[in-house]
Amino acid sequence: MSVCDGCGNPSDRMFTVQTYDDRVFVFDSVERAAPLVAPSCAEGACITLSHGIEIGDAIFCCYGCARRSGLQALPNNVSNVAG
Ligand SMILES: [Zn+2]
Ligand SMILES: [Zn+2]
Repeated sequence: MSVCDGCGNPSDRMFTVQTYDDRVFVFDSVERAAPLVAPSCAEGACITLSHGIEIGDAIFCCYGCARRSGLQALPNNVSNVAG
């Protein structure tokens, strides 16, 4: 039996997530996993659950957040756009 890294719940029905920078977590639900492993949106408290939008070093969860950050038109160096 393991303990969920998101909420501390002990369970034998866990799954493991390994991040791009080799951090390893165990969780009992996707809901608890998302805040710990998904990138935070550069605009606010959102969690980037889809591919997100990368502009320079910033990651936004959606076009709306990218626009609210002051970007009226997305620049040509957008490296990843989805959602
Ligand atoms: Zn949990
Ligand atoms: Zn956002």
